Formats: sequence, structure tokens, C-alpha cells
Amino acid sequence: MDGTYTSSPRTANYIGGRWIGEPDTMPAINPATGDVIAQLPKSSRDTAALAVAAAKAAAPGWAATPVFKRAEMCVAIGAAIDVARDHIARILSAEQGKVFSEAYGEVSKAADGFRLAAELVKQMGGQTLPTEDPTKLVMTIRQPRGVYGVITPWNFPVNIPVEYLAPGIATGNAIVWVPAPSTSLVACALMEVIEKAGLPAGVINLVIGEGATAGDAIVIHPDVAAIGFTGSAATGKRIAERGAGKPLLLELGGNGPVVVFEDADLDAAAAAAAGGAFFNAGQVCAATGRVLAHHSIVDSLCEKLTAHAAEHVLGDPSHQGTTMGPLNNAKVAAKVKEHVDDAIASGAKVLYGGKQRSDLGSDLFFEPTVIRDVTREMRINREETFGPVVPVIAFQDEAEALDLALDSEYGLSVGVFTGDITRGIEMARAIPAGIVNVNGGSTYWEIHLPFGGGTGTKSGIGRLGGMHTMEAMTELKMITVTIDRKGA
Ligand code: NAD
Repeated sequence: MDGTYTSSPRTANYIGGRWIGEPDTMPAINPATGDVIAQLPKSSRDTAALAVAAAKAAAPGWAATPVFKRAEMCVAIGAAIDVARDHIARILSAEQGKVFSEAYGEVSKAADGFRLAAELVKQMGGQTLPTEDPTKLVMTIRQPRGVYGVITPWNFPVNIPVEYLAPGIATGNAIVWVPAPSTSLVACALMEVIEKAGLPAGVINLVIGEGATAGDAIVIHPDVAAIGFTGSAATGKRIAERGAGKPLLLELGGNGPVVVFEDADLDAAAAAAAGGAFFNAGQVCAATGRVLAHHSIVDSLCEKLTAHAAEHVLGDPSHQGTTMGPLNNAKVAAKVKEHVDDAIASGAKVLYGGKQRSDLGSDLFFEPTVIRDVTREMRINREETFGPVVPVIAFQDEAEALDLALDSEYGLSVGVFTGDITRGIEMARAIPAGIVNVNGGSTYWEIHLPFGGGTGTKSGIGRLGGMHTMEAMTELKMITVTIDRKGA
């Protein structure tokens, strides 16, 4: 472990540069054992309002800080995360349930996120625009929006917050961050590292508590100018209603199909589909929600998927050799079980796994699972399962494949495997998702690329990633100057 940090971080809110406790508390729980690993604040609406006030006080000074100074701060935070990588990853693994290698990778990406924001903000310009009126000089500049509310989920509780925090502070906003309750200890760890890197007081404020209380208080607060939210479609809709009128970035759920045609490289398709279903125990918005397979290759594909599932060792992520940890919380575990039970009761066939494994230490363990003979009506096809499950649906022809892909409320990320690149591009054009990967799995992601839900779906509004986030988190202001020497 890195010597700079003790094994347990501060367990308090971080408001206006001070760590502040709360009378009401809630436990941080290790999902693999059920052990309580810390007591965290369960913040009231009043505490959330204090954080907004601290951000509001810090906002003008931070906005006026030269861009290159803000960029330097982001570089310093990235370096501080590098130093603390092992420490943060251990807490992330213990509290979220993901294996250490995945946790370590996530923290590394978070450091990269701050460095990327530092690079991009120095390149972020406005424009000068041509005009009909010869006396006008018209230019655009980008300004921070002010106080940004950021509400984040528990599946990537370090990297997803950084997707907002890094571009948010690089572009000069002050932030109030409300992390998911079940991964708030690692939020404290990240906040502590950011503090030690020297971020001025009030620029990022951490408020720990229930989303419906602390999160909602931020959403409706008149001094919070804009909201960035990653989470479920249901909560996203509520936030859009409660925060009506504010600029919103909403990254919501998915149920991405991976479509596998008869001419595809089946080994590559199976590896990508299984990887996308089992990484982070399937708790990924862009996970392989379902596999749509041509009837002629479905047997062979199922065999390969089953072999991938069988390679996993389910268990406590702190144990040597574990490749898949528990689900993070009881709500997601109940949904995964319900979806699998519903599929079995409706005639689907489990090829591998399919069961909750309470014998491994807690009720949150669920076996890597492959299910075939899934049909359109089953919940596992229609809803986002968010667990380590690959449901396989056979299709007869391209038209049916497209119809199955289109028959979804979600439209986040899709994979299409085919040897016919024209067919791949046609599918990509036809499916109303934010991302379609031809000959790639649904989870393909890089920090600078545009990530988000397709219009008309429940998967969100806007794009996260690189310059897209920087633009979304700033105001585009037009300034015009009249240049008229008449009378001069
Ligand atoms: P969730 O919507 O239940 O919670 C997300 C966050 O919102 C949490 O911090 C929660 O405390 C808060 N929240 C809950 N109710 C709130 C309210 N009324 N007002 C304000 N905040 C509130 O989602 P979850 O179960 O924590 O996360 C899983 C979901 O997130 C999945 O649906 C997944 O697909 C989605 N997700 C999407 C992306 C993406 O980029 N599109 C990435 C990761 C996760």
C-alpha cells in the first residue's frame, strides 16, 4: 500500500475544504462478506444546501483562475491518483465487489481522465463568425456554467465521477458531488486524494447520502446551474422532471444486443459477448444485455459462450484467483435473480450457472450464466438485467435481427459481428443507439470518445467523453462588437 494514505479514508462530507460529519449515519458494506467496513454520513437536505453554498462561494474565483492554472491542477490530481492507485483500488474492490485488477484499471483511467481534461481545456477555443452586417465582429467564447450538481452510480464509482469532475473543474465550474450510497467510502478516498493534490476549497464538494434526499436537494436547488447524472433511466427521468430547465447530461441504462450473423468470426464474437457480460459481474450500462444469434450458428456460439463462463472463478475479490466478485447490492441481486427465474419459468434453458450462491459469503453472489431459447417477451430480453448473464435469442434472417434489435426502449451501445462490412454498416445506421460497434462488443469505450444514449430511447441525453463533456459543461456565449467609424 502507498505510505501516504492510511487503509481507511476520512468518512465525512467534504464541504468548503473541510471534512464535516453528520449526525445521521449509514454503513458502508463489503458486498462479498456483508461486513460493515465504515460508517458514513447520511446527509440531510440542509447539509446538501451547505455544500451548494460552498460551491457558489468558490465558483467565481475558480472561474477566474487562468485556464493553464486549472489545467496544472488537473495534472496534479492525475499524479496524486497515480500515487494512491493501489490504496483507492483496494477500497474500491472491497466496497464495490469488483476484482482488484478491474479496480486498479478503473483508478488508472480516472487519473487519465484528469490529464485528458488538462490537455483539452488548453485547446478549447471559441470562434469568430462571418456576418451579413459588415459593421459586426462576432465571436464565441466558452464559460463555466457555475455550480454543477453531479450524481453518480455504484458500478464504476471512481471513473464515472471523474468523467464529470475532471472536465467540470478544468472548464472552471464548482461542483457538488453526490455519489451512490453503496460506494461512498471510495468517494471519500478519491476526495481525500484530490484535496491533498491542492484543489482550492469549495471547488469540489462531496455530499454523502441517499439520492432521494441529498441528490434531490442538489437537483432542485436554485443555485445549482446544471446537472450531470449517470444512473438508471427511472432516476434520470425523475431528475429531468425535478431539474426542469437546467442543462442536463444524462447517461442512463442500456440493454445492448450483440448481434452475431452466420458469417461472423464466432470466436471473436463469443469472446466479446462474454467479456461484455461478465466484466464487473455484468454491472455495466453498455454490457452485453442480450445476444441475438443467427439460428445456424446458435449451437456453436452457445458452446463458446459457455466455455467462457466456465473459466470464471466466482468469489470474494480479495481471494487469490477470483475473477468475478459479488453484485454490489441487494436491489441489483434481486433483479438479476428475478430475470433469470422468469426466463426459466417461460421456457428458456440454462446452459451454465443460473443460481444465486449465498454459500460463497453473501446473497450477492450470482453465477456467470448463459441461457438460450430466450424469447422476445421475456423480461431478460426487454429490461436491463445488470448482472453476469448472457441471454441468447435465435433469429432467422437479417430482418428479424434488426427487428429484435429495434424492439427495445434502450439505445446505448450495440455490437454487430458479421463478415459482411456493408451489412455491418447498414445495421449501424439503422439501430437508434448512441454507439454501434461493428465486429466489436457493446462495451468498447475510451475516455475521449463520445458515449451516450440514442435520441428517442431511455438511455439518456448528451454525450460524455473528451471534448464532448467539456462542451456540455460550458456555456457557449456569443459576443458581438460593432465596428463603425461613421462619425469618428
Ligand atoms: P440509480 O438511478 O438507482 O442511482 C444512481 C444515483 O442516483 C445514485 O447516486 C442514487 O443515490 C441517485 N439517486 C437515486 N434517486 C435519486 C433521486 N430521486 N434524485 C437524485 N438522485 C437520486 O442507478 P444505480 O442503480 O445506482 O446505477 C445503475 C444504473 O446506472 C443502471 O441502469 C446503469 O445502466 C446506469 N449506468 C449508466 C451509465 C451510462 O453511462 N449510460 C453508466 C453506468 C451506469
